Amino acid sequence: MPTRRAFLTATALSAAGMALAPVLGRAAEEQEKFRDGWMTVTGFTRNLPAPVILPHEHVTTDFLGAERFPAPRYERGNAFDQIAPHFEQLRRRDVGLLVECTPAHIGRDVLLLKRLSEASGVRILTNTGYYGAVENKFLPRHAFTESVEQLADRWRKEWKEGIDGTGIRPGFLKLGTGNGRLPEVHAKLLRAACRVHLDTGLTIAVHTGDGEAARDEVRILGEEGVAPSALVWVHAQNDPGPIQIELAKRGVWISLDGYSLATRNPERYRNLLVAHREAGTLGRVLVSHDDGWAVEGEAAAGSELKLFGNGNPAPYSSIFERLLPDLREAGFEQADLERLTRSNPAEAWRVRRRG
Ligand SMILES: [Zn+2]
Repeated sequence: MPTRRAFLTATALSAAGMALAPVLGRAAEEQEKFRDGWMTVTGFTRNLPAPVILPHEHVTTDFLGAERFPAPRYERGNAFDQIAPHFEQLRRRDVGLLVECTPAHIGRDVLLLKRLSEASGVRILTNTGYYGAVENKFLPRHAFTESVEQLADRWRKEWKEGIDGTGIRPGFLKLGTGNGRLPEVHAKLLRAACRVHLDTGLTIAVHTGDGEAARDEVRILGEEGVAPSALVWVHAQNDPGPIQIELAKRGVWISLDGYSLATRNPERYRNLLVAHREAGTLGRVLVSHDDGWAVEGEAAAGSELKLFGNGNPAPYSSIFERLLPDLREAGFEQADLERLTRSNPAEAWRVRRRG
C-alpha cells in the first residue's frame, strides 16, 4: 500500500504531468516521427532513391557577406537550367542524396534546391546555423549580441516551421570556425547548435580550420552533453592526419571533402584514406568534392554563376572518375568503398539524437 504522502506526491505529479502533456507530447511526437531518416528539402524520408551519398557539396553560393543582399542575385530559371544537367548525371551515378552545405547568409537558396531535387530525383539536405569562418564576414549582427538560447530558438524555428516561409526544413546544422581554440562567439554558436541537436537530432557540421579547433569542438560538445558522433569535422583534409585518427576513434565524422581532379590533391586523399584503413577508422570517414557555383562580382542583379572552389571542370564527378578507381588499385575492397560512399554518410546525416 502506498503511504498517504507518496499518494499525494503521485497525484500532484500526475496533475502537473497532465498540464505539461500537450507540450511535451508534441515535442516527443516530432522526435519520434523524424527519427532515423533524413530531412530533405522535399520532406522527411527513411528510404533514399539510390544508395550513393555526396556528403559535402554546394549548389549556389554568394560571397558578398552577411546582410549585404536580401535575395539571390541570379535568375532562378537560368540557374536551374545551368545546374540541372549535373543532377541528372548524379542520378545516373546512383546518387540518392546530396548534402548541400551552403549556410544562410552565403547564398543558401532552398527553393532552387527543391526544384533541382524534384526534377532529378536526387534528394538534397539543406541546413540551419551560422558560418563564423573567414573573420565573421558571414555572421549577421545578431550573432554577436544574442544569447545561446536566443540563437538556438532561431534555428529551432527553421526546423519547426521551415526556412523563410517555404516550409522547407533543414536536414542538419552548419557552422564555421578557423584555427585553434574557438573564439567566444563561435563557441556560443556551437553551444546553440548542441541545444538544437538535443531537441531535434540534427547532425552538427562545422567548417573547421585545423585539428586543434576540432578538438575544442569535441570539448564543447561534451560540456553540452552531446556525443562526438553528432559532429562532422568539415575539411578535415587540411589536418595532416594524427588528430583525424584520434577524433575518429572518439566517434567524430571525418569529412575529406575537397577532392578535385583540378588540383594535385588526389594523392593526399589516397594517403589519408590508407592511413584510416590501417588505423581501423575507415568507418568514420566521409568523402566529397566541395564543388558548386558562385555568383560572380558585386553587381546587384543579373550576375552570372561560375564554377567555384576546387575548379573541377565537371562538378560532382571526380570521386567517381578517379578516387574510387584509385582506391581499388590501392587494395580497397568493394565493402570499403561502399562504406565510404554509402553507409558512412547515411549514418552521419541521419536525424538521430546523440547525447
Ligand atoms: Zn563547402
